[in-house]
Amino acid sequence: MRRVTGPTEHVVVVGAGLGGLACALRLAGAGRQVTVVEKGPGPGGKAGRLSLAGYEFDTGPTVLTAPDLIADTLGAVGERLEDWLELVRLDPAYRGHFPDGSTLDVHTDTARMAAEVSRVCGAREADGYLRFAEYTKKIFELEMRDFIDRNLDSPLDLATSSLVKLVAMGGFRRLGTKVGQFLRDPRTSRMFSFQSLYAGLAPSDALAIYTVISYLDCVAGVYFPKGGMHALPDALARAGAKHGISFLYDAEVASVAMSGDRATGVVLADGTRIPADVVVLNPDLAHAYALLGRPVRRRLRYSPSCVLLHVGSRAEYSKIAHHNLHFGQAWEGTFDQIIKRGELMSDPSLLVTNPTRTDPSLAPAGKQAYYVLAPAPHLGQRQWRGLEGRRYASELVATLEARGYLDFGAEIEVSHVVTPADWDAPAGTPFSLAHTFGQTGPFRPSNLVPGLQNVVLTGAGTQPGVGVPMVLVSGRLAAERITGPLG
Ligand SMILES: Cc1cc2nc3c(=O)[nH]c(=O)nc-3n(C[C@H](O)[C@H](O)[C@H](O)COP(=O)(O)OP(=O)(O)OC[C@H]3O[C@@H](n4cnc5c(N)ncnc54)[C@H](O)[C@@H]3O)c2cc1C
Repeated sequence: MRRVTGPTEHVVVVGAGLGGLACALRLAGAGRQVTVVEKGPGPGGKAGRLSLAGYEFDTGPTVLTAPDLIADTLGAVGERLEDWLELVRLDPAYRGHFPDGSTLDVHTDTARMAAEVSRVCGAREADGYLRFAEYTKKIFELEMRDFIDRNLDSPLDLATSSLVKLVAMGGFRRLGTKVGQFLRDPRTSRMFSFQSLYAGLAPSDALAIYTVISYLDCVAGVYFPKGGMHALPDALARAGAKHGISFLYDAEVASVAMSGDRATGVVLADGTRIPADVVVLNPDLAHAYALLGRPVRRRLRYSPSCVLLHVGSRAEYSKIAHHNLHFGQAWEGTFDQIIKRGELMSDPSLLVTNPTRTDPSLAPAGKQAYYVLAPAPHLGQRQWRGLEGRRYASELVATLEARGYLDFGAEIEVSHVVTPADWDAPAGTPFSLAHTFGQTGPFRPSNLVPGLQNVVLTGAGTQPGVGVPMVLVSGRLAAERITGPLG
């Protein structure tokens, strides 16, 4: 494994997103002196918090999987997960709502899930589900050790027995095709393949190795921290501070100070200079490179973006779960619209999260918080003008009312709309680079910046990729570029 060169005593981490925080904890645990410099008022980055009239909205991730990675990150500084976060296992993990009025609950216990699939789609489909769950588990085990949880310096690093097995299992075929080999009913196949969107691609374009996301989502379990998802970065930052990490908030880094091919520290927007032996960059990839004064020398393909509607409401709906997927009639066409044609969905599929079901303290007494996520094209494909965001939000409200959310509009107490134009991210997408073949594994931008001796990247734009579990791993991989292998 390649490593930074020279001294590594004092590390400056730019950005307190989950990747930056995970890296900082690993480094502190390995005895380094760490300073985290964050332009925002607190930790979290995309896992942020919006407080409105007594409602606490999570602004980014809502589906928390792989809590063992959080435990491992806190363990790096000798802390225990249960002392910092109260995680509730969600059951069901999701509820799927289909255009024919049927619903399918995702239970992460495979026997219960098989019974649910049998109830909705029949015994043959339940058998297919059991085989699919087994398949994704194997894919996860093969991928995690050799391809995800490991620094890859070259495609040759992939040449392991796991690669042979992954190829034999059809891991490099298309995800949609693979899921179709196990699941025939459009409801189950949609439920277990929509996750390709988390990788920025349609099921017909994503690689079957990305069923690993379906595994984490639908088999390994979905959790919710009491206090909301933002409790996660908050816990990591507090644990880090306890173990000596210095946090500077409201401190924007304007550039990385360089001497030849070595970083010597960072320069803040107010001119303050903070010296460092090594600099770790957590901003989105193109922004990280901009701090280095260099362009990214390759063509990047971005994931689609999304519109978010945060709603504080007087209304409560008995037929929904914590996470709800409302599928439209259209399917392939929807992916084409948002990914290929740069259009808004004409027959939307939506994620509606109702966190106050699990933690009522996130809203005033007796009130409910709703988080509506609508996938949308990124800004490279479609611009947002004037009041278009508000208009689209009204359309989403009307769609939800038509799908059973009675008086959703009339019962809104507060609301906030976020469009791709509002995301402080390249191409207006908070989901970073798509996981195409050319942006997967060793082909995804490296966490070592070519030509520089002591600059390391962490976060969704580098290896292994997007999402809370992956960026926590990226933090460890970045730290290992500095310290060498960590136990
Ligand atoms: C709407 C939405 C829904 C999502 N849903 C899920 C989900 O359900 N499950 C899941 O697993 N993942 C989900 N994700 C993805 C996941 O949240 C992200 O992949 C992850 O949080 C990204 O973390 P990161 O470390 O890459 O950095 P970021 O969160 O991007 O953090 C980077 C940090 O760097 C700081 N920074 C940038 N520039 C500077 C500078 N010049 N100086 C100082 N600081 C700087 C930023 O302020 C920020 O705090 C979602 C994301 C979004 C936005």
